[in-house]
Amino acid sequence: MRTGKSARPHTDHPSLGRATAPLLASQKSQGKGGYNPIAPERVREILKRLDGLYLEVTCALQHRSAWELLVATILSAQSTDVRVNMVTPELFRKYPTVQDFAALTPEQLQPDVRSTGFFRNKSKSVVGAAKKIVSDFGGQVPDQMEQILTLPGVARKTANVVLGTWFRKNEGVVVDTHVHRISRRLELTRNDDPKTIEQDLTKIIPRERWTLFSHQVIWHGRKLCVARRPKCVDCPLENICHAADKTWSTVEVHKNAK
Ligand code: SF4
Repeated sequence: MRTGKSARPHTDHPSLGRATAPLLASQKSQGKGGYNPIAPERVREILKRLDGLYLEVTCALQHRSAWELLVATILSAQSTDVRVNMVTPELFRKYPTVQDFAALTPEQLQPDVRSTGFFRNKSKSVVGAAKKIVSDFGGQVPDQMEQILTLPGVARKTANVVLGTWFRKNEGVVVDTHVHRISRRLELTRNDDPKTIEQDLTKIIPRERWTLFSHQVIWHGRKLCVARRPKCVDCPLENICHAADKTWSTVEVHKNAK
């Protein structure tokens, strides 16, 4: 079974220590009107430090196929991966194939996914996606963005998870709640809409990094850069982060960085 690897922050990484980390040119010019939060050298440094923290991370949703990952991702909306991972093993034991799901009505599925929240809509999406995959795609989850987006309940976030994680295709950046929050804190975007945030990120992150970057930032959001009271004192990105809601800072904070 392909499962998400745990990602323990390595905050004591010697090359990431705050005391020794050199200031970037983009930081040195700060105060002279030259600070550019998306300067290539700053973005490279962010990616390097994320690598130091979360080198080999992937999606935490348990799955054995593209279909299982698609279902798990649909169920994860407004829920947690831990909660979804409690539900899916029994779900896929009960309904092992996409054809089994396609034969259901949404109402029949509801009790099995109830604990993930929003179960009526999620049941509708999962059953609708199964029916379309069986009728239009020969029972296989499509591996093309424009096709996967035709499935009920599948928007870009879900499509990017499945295409990036299962099919290893860097078609976009997954903008979930963690990527949304942290991209703003790190001033990689000033936008608030997931679609525009994704466009901003794909302009500055090398394409081959899109999926890995998504997973790394999601893990960072779970482990250190949490929504309330981020653990900045333990964060190796601290001296290049100017987030307005930092809980501890050695650099000036920027009021728009949140
Ligand atoms: S320093 Fe704080 S706000 Fe900035 S990335 Fe780290 S945990 Fe998040």
